[in-house]
Amino acid sequence: MMPRPILPGSTVGILGSGQLGRMFAIAARRMGYRVHTYSPDTDTPTGQVADLEIVAPYEDLDAVRRFASQVRAVTFEFENVPAETAAACSEYSLVRPRGEVLHTTQNRIREKRFLSQHGLPLAPFREVHSLADLEIAISALGTPCILKTAGFGYDGKGQTKLYTASAAEEAWRRAKGQECVLEALVDFVCEVSVVAARGADGEFVHYGVVENDHQNHILDVTRAPGRVSDRVRNEAVAIARAVMEQLDAVGVLCVEFFLTKDERLLINELAPRPHNSGHFSFDACVTSQFEQQLRATCGLRLGSTELLRPAAMANLLGDIWNDGEPNWEAAAAFPAVKLHLYGKLSARAGRKMGHLTALASTVDDAVAQVLAARTAL
Ligand code: AMP
Repeated sequence: MMPRPILPGSTVGILGSGQLGRMFAIAARRMGYRVHTYSPDTDTPTGQVADLEIVAPYEDLDAVRRFASQVRAVTFEFENVPAETAAACSEYSLVRPRGEVLHTTQNRIREKRFLSQHGLPLAPFREVHSLADLEIAISALGTPCILKTAGFGYDGKGQTKLYTASAAEEAWRRAKGQECVLEALVDFVCEVSVVAARGADGEFVHYGVVENDHQNHILDVTRAPGRVSDRVRNEAVAIARAVMEQLDAVGVLCVEFFLTKDERLLINELAPRPHNSGHFSFDACVTSQFEQQLRATCGLRLGSTELLRPAAMANLLGDIWNDGEPNWEAAAAFPAVKLHLYGKLSARAGRKMGHLTALASTVDDAVAQVLAARTAL
């Protein structure tokens, strides 16, 4: 039997304390929920807007149990939470998505095995546990290819491109003995993603296909909707649905794809949580990806994902602080551009500090406005 929904006024917990948790907490507080956040850090983006910020290591299972016993449901914003932490939470509280979903997606080998077992399309890859494995994998996949550590990788961290087989030794040294995957480098025309949500009763909704430009492996600009054919759109959504159903995931999940010249979609990776490429939904959709995560976690019906107007999102990285505080007034002078800052205490190059979203009558116009506003900073 389905548990009764967790209603406004209840307290929900979030493991992790970054910007995704912050936007989740804003959505939750708007609907009258209380929010507790748990992470090893203090004065965090999430902690600044949560009712309670618990500061303790993820490995401190006694503290984790105390946190879980004070909330009705636990969700995540940081997918590298140890499996034991999620299991400890589930002794006291509903955990959505289940810890097993995190376990599968937080390791590239487990994720790729899952995808290939279910016949879902992905770029050719090999598992690599030694230099000998790597050399065999390079001869199987050819160059150029890309070596990625299996765990704790995001935004290009732990990745080395290989242009020749002779680069194997150096790449393996950089991986520091961690297990890896070797992927063929995909010659894509663009990168797209689908952010989707699945309710406790299996209800499925999605935010369509958006187009993502990356700079230095980090998302730079998202266009919503993306410029893809109906066939690609339908296929991408069907894949996202299959992924969520096969994982039996309740919550929000993003599938990132490469789109090849011959219109083939290859899955790059999964994120079992709201995603940077869904940030536009905060301003541009009837229900944001963060509210959707809350609704799914609490067992409410999912909200409409309708896009109110074409939109574009541009990330604000720490680099724009290089010459001092950015000119916020100049960005605020763009009336159709929304500024989001995450409250991070120090700006470092490549660190996601905030984003801008523009709404316009066409996506091209939204992109032009969001880029002009960012330049004005
Ligand atoms: P990831 O951390 O795996 O999402 O990689 C970050 C970015 O690096 C991707 O969004 C791509 O722009 C690029 N990239 C990663 N893997 C590949 C690949 N196999 N082929 C081509 N580009 C890749």
